[in-house]
Amino acid sequence: MATIEVDRDRCEGHGLCEQTAPEVYRLDDDGEVELLVGEVPPELLVTAEAGARVCPVAALRVRR
Ligand code: SF4
Repeated sequence: MATIEVDRDRCEGHGLCEQTAPEVYRLDDDGEVELLVGEVPPELLVTAEAGARVCPVAALRVRR
């Protein structure tokens, strides 16, 4: 199953990932991204990749 790598040092809290894929990403109380899934179930793969793509600082990577 796919996994998501998060570079929290890069995350600037824009929240575009959460807006695009709220089933997968959310901002925590510090305004940094956190994952709502450990491994990405197949039905969320396209959504997870879309959310990673919109990150303006390339802090998210989906590994298949
Ligand atoms: S879009 Fe990128 S910078 Fe914005 S919250 Fe998500 S991971 Fe962080």
